[in-house]
Amino acid sequence: MTQHTDVVVVGGGQSGLAAGYHLRRQGLDFVILDADPAPGGSWQHMWNSLHLFSPAEYSSLPGRLMPAQARETYPDAGHVVDYLTDYEKRYDLPVQHGARVDAVRRDGGRLLVETDTGTWRAHAVISATGTWSRPFLPAVPGREVFTGRQLHTVNYHSPADFTGQHVIVVGGGNSGAQIAADLALDGNVHVTWVTQRPPRLLPDDIDGRALFDVATARRRALEAGRTDTGGVASLGDIVAVSPVRAARDAGLLEAKPMFSRLTADGARWDDGSQSGADVIIWCTGFRPALSHLAPLDLRRARGHIPTDGTRALDEARLHLLGYGDWTGPASATLIGVGRPARDAAREIAQLS
Ligand code: FAD
Repeated sequence: MTQHTDVVVVGGGQSGLAAGYHLRRQGLDFVILDADPAPGGSWQHMWNSLHLFSPAEYSSLPGRLMPAQARETYPDAGHVVDYLTDYEKRYDLPVQHGARVDAVRRDGGRLLVETDTGTWRAHAVISATGTWSRPFLPAVPGREVFTGRQLHTVNYHSPADFTGQHVIVVGGGNSGAQIAADLALDGNVHVTWVTQRPPRLLPDDIDGRALFDVATARRRALEAGRTDTGGVASLGDIVAVSPVRAARDAGLLEAKPMFSRLTADGARWDDGSQSGADVIIWCTGFRPALSHLAPLDLRRARGHIPTDGTRALDEARLHLLGYGDWTGPASATLIGVGRPARDAAREIAQLS
């Protein structure tokens, strides 16, 4: 049986919830389909000690300030899950958990959304499926011969899983820095942190707030036709949240250049030096989870879908939300997703 609605939102993480908040304000009928059995999006899968890189009030979705977490300037992932769970309830958002969208297809003047729990027919679709389910592993020589364990950021939970082992953490972003610090501070793990270029920690007094301000200034400059003020990349890559700062100040967070290849029992560098390793943790980022949109045949160069704001250039009934700056500056953050979510809801309201 096919169900009918104005809008289907695919994904019930922070982006999908922000979309729901604004669709409700537009008076549209909608449903949010989320593959996870519980609220919280990818935050419910992140490691125990992960901290936000902005204070609570700078990590809020539209309409509801994130409450502070006791004794924590930067709330942890569990606090974010509680906030998103409360948000879903507080705004009585129609989230169907455990509903995986397999395909979105054109169907006359509508879009057909096929899921493992039934089919929906809608005026418009907002895709907010995030990147967590698409970890990226670089093609490094020797990956297939390394006999130790290899995992990605998404599989990391706690230093206790690596006691007495030598772990090489690969990646110079927030994940790499926070996981290397987590392991180093534990004291029972031998950690080597490797990065492609020297890691660039932001000054201690600069955190996600400044990143958001820079992204906002850039958006305003571009909208006003002024010269591009440059994104946050010019500032640095890593917010010095407390575990990172503690490990750095204890001299435990020194990065080495990236190895050139893996061997059966470790890694080798260009200068011929070698190191044994039991585990490699690839903190090497993600790709957008877009396979459900394949029937619409929208992808172009580098696998991206060309958009104007959040709207897909080649399918006006489809909006993409929360995947990164290409779907709106800072849109892959709690505080940054609200504006593009509002713009998408407004555009869809004019469609119907
Ligand atoms: P997700 O949270 O990934 O949610 C997507 C939802 O879609 C999931 O519930 C998933 O089950 C569902 N889904 C996926 N595919 C389907 C499908 N086919 N059908 C149905 N449902 C589907 N952001 C900040 O604002 N502050 C921070 O401090 C911060 N720190 C971060 C640290 C790390 C290590 C990482 C990895 C990210 C961090 N981010 C931070 C970014 C933020 O966590 C993500 O960008 C955010 O989770 C994106 O939200 P989302 O709702 O778009 O995606």
